[in-house]
Amino acid sequence: MNNFDFHNPTRILFGKGRIDDLDGQVPADAKVLILFGGGSAERTGVLANVRKALGDREVVEFSGIEPNPRYETAIKAVDVIAENGVTFILAVGGGSVIDAAKFIAAAAKYDGDAWDIFTSFGGVIKDALPFGTVLTLPATGSEMNTGSVITHLGKAAKLPFRSPHCAPVFSILDPELTYTLPDRQIANGVADAFVHVIEQYLTYPVGAPVQDGFSETLLRTLIDLGPKALETPKDYDIRASLMWTATLALNGLISAGVPQDWASHMIGHEITAFNDTDHARTLAVVLPSLMQDQREAKREKLLQYAANVWDIREGDDDARIDAAIKATVDFFHAMGIDTKLSDYNVGADDIDTIINALTDHGMTELGEHGKITPTVARRILEAAL
Ligand code: NAP
Ligand code: FE
Repeated sequence: MNNFDFHNPTRILFGKGRIDDLDGQVPADAKVLILFGGGSAERTGVLANVRKALGDREVVEFSGIEPNPRYETAIKAVDVIAENGVTFILAVGGGSVIDAAKFIAAAAKYDGDAWDIFTSFGGVIKDALPFGTVLTLPATGSEMNTGSVITHLGKAAKLPFRSPHCAPVFSILDPELTYTLPDRQIANGVADAFVHVIEQYLTYPVGAPVQDGFSETLLRTLIDLGPKALETPKDYDIRASLMWTATLALNGLISAGVPQDWASHMIGHEITAFNDTDHARTLAVVLPSLMQDQREAKREKLLQYAANVWDIREGDDDARIDAAIKATVDFFHAMGIDTKLSDYNVGADDIDTIINALTDHGMTELGEHGKITPTVARRILEAAL
């Protein structure tokens, strides 16, 4: 096992009706910026409950954070913070609103050009406004981690940053808030969480059976409960397990002491930057192709994945790896997610643009071995056409 630091300061308030606990979590004298998306929070009544729970605190609202949140929108919230003397941000929504909150919290305390946050991958962040979240979409783990991904339309870029200053102070996880999600978003959430686990698990083995065991349980849970969540949308126990699984998939638990890949995410981000395809769907395209391409480098772990996640035990090594990759694709299809680039209007002629963007953004040595160069990424995308 590799050396690691593990520190996760986010308090989780999990279960039914937990929005009522906001009063005890947000400082009584805070000036609060409530940040939300395109209207679901208002429509579903979540915002009404949030406003009520905040009582007579001074509140400013900022709406319109897009899925795949945009720099151009989020930067306007930084001005609203300065104009109103906001001291606390409350993000109400999915990963996009929470990611935007992290950027806004950091930019509000940064004197230079806020774009530096991305070019330094978060390194310039020395402070951030405190923020909490009310999660409405289980998927990204952003509610319990320090990462964020923002799209800059003007620069045609979707870039991540991370900073220890950008951990939510608390996150409210009420599984009942997920009942209003359309199937497409439930499917996206399950697929995104699945690929998060894979990025931290399907790497060369380093003798970390605890992390591997956690990962395999999270993957099996998503495979079991994902389709059931679509069939029975108001089953509390299914939603509760999915929500907690998605959080644990990317809160540092399973990444401690193990190598991490993240190539599927970095390549997928460039597809989203190219034509706004849903984040999770880009992953469902890239991952199976990457597994196939990297089957030698990942051989030992692919065999473990086949046995422990899919219970594939028949046939020789290559047959078991093929079966595991096929099972992965079938799982995405069972969630209603297509797995080819052509399903998302990306053709052979577009691959150059995506690869050039990857190179421009410095993503030239991806994967746990740094061996996924732009040439390899091109091969992965061409095989996914
Ligand atoms: P999202 O983009 O936050 O939300 C997707 C859609 O779901 C929005 O249209 C939203 O509508 C709607 N929605 C949210 N909650 C709802 C509810 N309870 N009922 C009905 N509709 C609801 O989706 P996401 O998958 O959580 O986040 C994706 C983003 O996170 C991507 O940009 C991805 O790159 C990023 N990401 C971040 C991390 C990280 O660690 N930080 C990891 C992976 C991915 P409204 O806009 O109307 O609210
Ligand atoms: Fe993701």
